[in-house]
Amino acid sequence: MEKQGEVKEREHLKHKKRIVIKIGSSSLTHKETHDMNLAKMEKLVRNICDIKGRGKEVVLVSSGAIAAGRQALGHKDRPGSLAEKQAFAAVGQARLMMVYQKLFAEYNQTAAQILLTKHTMIQDSSRYNAQNTFEELLKLGTIPIVNENDTVSTAEIPYVDTFGDNDRLSAVVAALIGADLLILLSDIEGLYSDDPRANPEARFIPVVREINSDLLAMGKATSGSSVGTGGMLAKLEAARIATDSGTDMVISNGENVEVLQEIIDGQEKGTLFLAHKNLNFDLMRYLSYEY
Ligand code: GLU
Repeated sequence: MEKQGEVKEREHLKHKKRIVIKIGSSSLTHKETHDMNLAKMEKLVRNICDIKGRGKEVVLVSSGAIAAGRQALGHKDRPGSLAEKQAFAAVGQARLMMVYQKLFAEYNQTAAQILLTKHTMIQDSSRYNAQNTFEELLKLGTIPIVNENDTVSTAEIPYVDTFGDNDRLSAVVAALIGADLLILLSDIEGLYSDDPRANPEARFIPVVREINSDLLAMGKATSGSSVGTGGMLAKLEAARIATDSGTDMVISNGENVEVLQEIIDGQEKGTLFLAHKNLNFDLMRYLSYEY
């Protein structure tokens, strides 16, 4: 019975129209050097173009600005100081967009860049403008590519002045534009009862209906990526924002980006967090730490 229910839960993913896809730095870079994985980016772009070809609207939230900047500047290590991080992001975001623009243009698609800060989202007028811009870009048939404006918004203390990671950012974007599906491509299959790299007994969780304190405790067993920022806890926070605002969310392994099509085909891939619109959830209050 449970099985049947699960299949049905996945079936409805076929009818999603507005999809936000988040890909992290660890999925966009080579493990050995942390340089940009261009073949991977090409496959990602091709898959997004096909999803668009199926009549869906797609917004891409892409990390990788700092990694691309580090590579462009010939640095081996991650940036040390805040100013260095911001400088890497300034160089890298332009590089990242140059690659995306080129790849999307090969498939006759137009990419657009949207850089957000937490401030933009909290302030009514700028949030309203951002929302209108997204609507217009989607109406024009473009693929908005979103990142945090790291050049101005990276901070010593993440989450106070910044989103801190693109997991939360992508959920905020999904809530802002009323997306009906958010897909987080990560370096892990989905949610486990414990860290599967440390505990072979860890159980895979295919569907989550409610994000409760037990689940958040599980999230403490984070994925140990050395390039990106968001661990499992950040992904669960993203799931809370998404599902409370009425968006289904799937976390899946971004190793093979074809998984995007499989998720949208309703196949059992990754962990599905089912939306349950919570009328008490107020995104702005959440962002202002009053929630
Ligand atoms: N905004 C950062 C970047 O593009 C990444 C943040 C994250 O990976 O969550 O480099």
